[in-house]
Amino acid sequence: MTDRTLRIAVIGAGPAGVYAADILSRSEQGEHVEIDLFDRYPAPFGLIRYGVAPDHPRIKGIVKALHKVMERGKIRFIGNVDYGTDLTREDLQRHYDAVIFSTGAIDDAALNIPGIELDGSFGAADFVSWYDGHPDYPREWPLDAQKVAVLGNGNVALDVARVLSKHADDLLETEIPDNVYQGLKSSPVTDVHVFGRRGPAQVKFTPLELRELAHSKDVDIVLYEEDFEFDEASDEAIKTNNQVKTMVNTLANWLVEQEERTEPASRRLHLHFLHSPVEIGGDTDSGRDGKVSGIRFERQELDGSGNVRGTGEYVDYDVQAVYRAIGYFGSPLAEVPFDAERGVIPNQAGRVVDENGEHLTGIYATGWIKRGPVGLIGHTKGDASETIGCLLEDLPSLPAPAEPGVDVVELLESRGVEPTSWDGWIALDAHERSLGEGWGELPDGGIRERVKVVPREEMVRVSRALETVDAAGKADR
Ligand code: NAP
Repeated sequence: MTDRTLRIAVIGAGPAGVYAADILSRSEQGEHVEIDLFDRYPAPFGLIRYGVAPDHPRIKGIVKALHKVMERGKIRFIGNVDYGTDLTREDLQRHYDAVIFSTGAIDDAALNIPGIELDGSFGAADFVSWYDGHPDYPREWPLDAQKVAVLGNGNVALDVARVLSKHADDLLETEIPDNVYQGLKSSPVTDVHVFGRRGPAQVKFTPLELRELAHSKDVDIVLYEEDFEFDEASDEAIKTNNQVKTMVNTLANWLVEQEERTEPASRRLHLHFLHSPVEIGGDTDSGRDGKVSGIRFERQELDGSGNVRGTGEYVDYDVQAVYRAIGYFGSPLAEVPFDAERGVIPNQAGRVVDENGEHLTGIYATGWIKRGPVGLIGHTKGDASETIGCLLEDLPSLPAPAEPGVDVVELLESRGVEPTSWDGWIALDAHERSLGEGWGELPDGGIRERVKVVPREEMVRVSRALETVDAAGKADR
């Protein structure tokens, strides 16, 4: 600990950034630290606002905990600031003692198979950004496919498959933006096929998220007996891991129950295993102009260790869209080392290192950009503790910044940036809730808690209207 009041910049106001800022503000250094939490978007909470599916209010509940952290007033939120453009690493090092990068991972991992570039082949992360009302994504999404393939057996694959297969009216109670509701409502989808390359005991999704699939109205879950293959490693996993056991049981029960169905639903969500994608087929002859018209898989068999090998048997599915949900990937940041293979900032326990493994003084990382896009939101806390532990350990040797007294908000405004504040977020939050109220009571008796504002300019206008009130004595809305 040091008596000098430290200024710390945290870049990325998702859960990783908020947890890191919170842990630091409650540490022994807490009385002598000023923390600025920056985000590229006008609103805070990163992945929670732009990554969690709208029909997962339970996870959105984490927002309440993050709100509490911010309401303590120890952390200043500065939104709508693009690191690398509006503020450089040099700026940050001139004005802050240390910088923590917590920018997450929002790109899709690449899948190098023929046809991946076809029209109708999408990254799940992009689709998630669309349905979560990300300001930098197009408002329209081409939902013209009747049959869709979703690749991957993680929770993102389940999110995407659930949102694609649900009836739009069943999402009305959520915070989905109007353009997303309209888009989903016009979707002609009847069949969503989810493909895992390994077996039912090797899925990466979690029990709660799997069971939730059965709650979608008028959507039948369809399974295939030939996909239920288990090797020694599977048996061991079922015996020793409760999560695996629960999920295999759930899947096996659904397989049996589907035989007893009497009334078929109008939509189906198929779960396939032991299918490895080989090629996406395009249709140039029938006027679909290079659009996805099918997908080919090689059937897999388990090799005893829980991994798979190809059987040489190929199987084709007639689909008009393919979503790859095979993992997220981090993006490089200006003037910060990047491991292009893993999509992370190279670091040792959160201390960012250069190509020689040397710690870059005063530069740290936490969250998915530190360890890769794995784990649930709560896991990020442990990560933040480790990074802040290193920062606190390094304090005695951190050189003081050249210009600690500069108000970064003024600096940004002098550059033509329109930063948003925590009070601005409170105003935007209230505005979105009032848009929800405007819908009144829904046909099923529910209400809309909020409707998200999507365009960046509108988010900024509503958020900064507060400052307009202060400056001009009246609101501009
Ligand atoms: P993930 O859990 O790592 O799953 C990725 C899936 O893609 C795996 O099934 C993997 O199969 C498959 N895959 C990878 N490369 C492939 C390839 N070349 N061909 C076919 N399949 C391939 O990733 P995620 O779904 O993006 O989730 C990221 C993290 O966010 C996870 O920790 C997840 O739990 C979390 N999350 C949680 C929720 C929630 O509701 N709780 C929602 C969304 C995300 P293999 O196993 O064979 O590699």
